[in-house]
Amino acid sequence: MQKINFENKKAVSVNYLKGDKKFTVKANKEIILSAGSIGSPQILQTSGIGESSKLKNLGLEIVNDLKGVGKNLQDHLMFRPVYKVKNIKTLNKKINSVFGKLLIGLEYVFARRGPMTMGASQLCGFAKSDENRETPNLQFHIQPISTDKLGGANLHDFNAFTPTVANIRPTSRGEINIISSDSRDNPKIKMNYLSTEEDRKVAADGIKLIRKIVMETDEFKKYEPEEFRPGAHIQDGEEIVKACSHYAQTIFHPVGTCKMGNDNDAVVSDELKVHGINNLRVIDASIMPNITSGNTNAPTIMIAEKGADMILNS
Ligand SMILES: Cc1cc2nc3c(=O)[nH]c(=O)nc-3n(C[C@H](O)[C@H](O)[C@H](O)COP(=O)(O)OP(=O)(O)OC[C@H]3O[C@@H](n4cnc5c(N)ncnc54)[C@H](O)[C@@H]3O)c2cc1C
Repeated sequence: MQKINFENKKAVSVNYLKGDKKFTVKANKEIILSAGSIGSPQILQTSGIGESSKLKNLGLEIVNDLKGVGKNLQDHLMFRPVYKVKNIKTLNKKINSVFGKLLIGLEYVFARRGPMTMGASQLCGFAKSDENRETPNLQFHIQPISTDKLGGANLHDFNAFTPTVANIRPTSRGEINIISSDSRDNPKIKMNYLSTEEDRKVAADGIKLIRKIVMETDEFKKYEPEEFRPGAHIQDGEEIVKACSHYAQTIFHPVGTCKMGNDNDAVVSDELKVHGINNLRVIDASIMPNITSGNTNAPTIMIAEKGADMILNS
């Protein structure tokens, strides 16, 4: 989809491109925007809904000055510490050898099981970075592999595992801004991860908690764990954050860029209708005012179900 067209603040049709050819589809009732936390604010902005000063600079005609469009971007960032282990085989060595790969392939072909049937993580858990908190603010995803860069580097050539940890209640906020009026140009995504002191503290506390579990509990002793990354010599909180940031990774949970509410930064109402505009709703993860303290897919499906009810009842 390229953009939404309006007549006197009423959404009436959408333009979409097939190759370079432009088509317009008229709406009989209303238009539902569900392009996700990156795509939805991008389409609103290219359609003239957003912070007017920024949009005017790109030569766009302003339909509604809503400065919250694209703001309030939140995500879960995970740190990926790596622990070398002994007296147990992790998948690193198996996947790194041609013979190991062959065995993995055969196991899948003949038994339909093994590493090729694994999900992204084998173990998940929640914890509090500080016991005085009312609810957990850390999420662990644990994998029997380790690498320098997910998807971009070989696995390490030693036995190791990766107990990742993410702050699931981040206070840092990023933003999405279009760079041109052409929806085919990717918008600028500024994540601003770890930009608050609180987020850096929680991130460091998450690593300290993992250290406690892996290095100090009896359960792990027989595996003789050794912290390969960030490295046990790094003790200062800010230094831990700095070291772990080189290997940090999104868990792909962007939300919040068309947030629901009634304050100055809100984009949609509690009926998911875009403020100041008729016949236009946003229904996707972008409407979350705050990120959920866990994975975002099921909550997005709930938003969609609730939105569908609202459409049917309107
Ligand atoms: C790699 C990855 C792994 C994930 N793993 C998990 C997980 O394990 N558990 C979990 O709970 N969540 C997971 N998530 C997050 C989850 O997928 C999202 O929270 C959820 O899909 C958000 O739904 P949405 O409808 O807001 O956006 P999306 O699912 O992103 O849907 C938006 C759609 O709009 C389309 N679109 C965007 N712009 C345009 C345009 N201009 N024109 C036409 N179409 C457009 C996109 O192609 C997309 O199909 C993962 C995400 C990723 C990327």
